[in-house]
Amino acid sequence: MALALVPVLSFGLVIGSFLNVVIARLPQRRSLWAPRSACPQCGNPIAWYDNVPLISFAALRGRCRACAAPIPWRYPLVEAATAALFALAWIVFAGDVGNFLVSAVFLAALVAITVIDLRHQIIPDAITLPGIVVGLGTSVATSRISWTDSLGGILLGGGLFMAIILASRGGMGGGDLKLGAMLGAFLGWQALLLALFVAVMLGGICAVALLVSGRVARKDAIPFGPFLAMGGIVALFWGHAIIAWYLGGFER
Ligand SMILES: [Zn+2]
Repeated sequence: MALALVPVLSFGLVIGSFLNVVIARLPQRRSLWAPRSACPQCGNPIAWYDNVPLISFAALRGRCRACAAPIPWRYPLVEAATAALFALAWIVFAGDVGNFLVSAVFLAALVAITVIDLRHQIIPDAITLPGIVVGLGTSVATSRISWTDSLGGILLGGGLFMAIILASRGGMGGGDLKLGAMLGAFLGWQALLLALFVAVMLGGICAVALLVSGRVARKDAIPFGPFLAMGGIVALFWGHAIIAWYLGGFER
């Protein structure tokens, strides 16, 4: 299994490199497939050897080969984070290829959503709506989770955010609602509840820390998508163990 981590990490780096394209182009509604990547500063097309995940960034010392404009740290960070999450999925699901592939799709979507929400305060429908379909479809097609748990997760995730949106009159957006439904589709309603709990706890801690340190003012909106994504990751990897432990506590 340790040997299999090399191709899994490589696969994660390649997908992470593609996610960088998604993160740069999707909010601008540009095609993901054409034209080829170019330096936004000088327009020079980026050669394949300058587009190797992590390695090119290090070799170029984080600068464009043609004009020396700095390449944002976002690029290697997204690649490394995607590879690390894919490796973790491979380890946690102990080489179950089907479960790993579905989890990889889910994790890739969460990485892209996190960075796009941090940069633009939007959660693209182009990721969450197909995500809901894929989450439900793969629970019908595989034995990962039952399709009824998945459908229940979509309804619970969507319904809870709908209630929050109606009650708070604009504190949350429709993007959060669709992300909640996507989490439910992939996780099932039980692990979704855990994901939401983790998201609220992390979001609350971060909001307090940012307010106390004066980094944000009380009226500033803090995007909730990244916290939902983190909750989704925790629930994906450890949801069943945590829920079993929690329910076991009641039986004793
Ligand atoms: Zn350049």
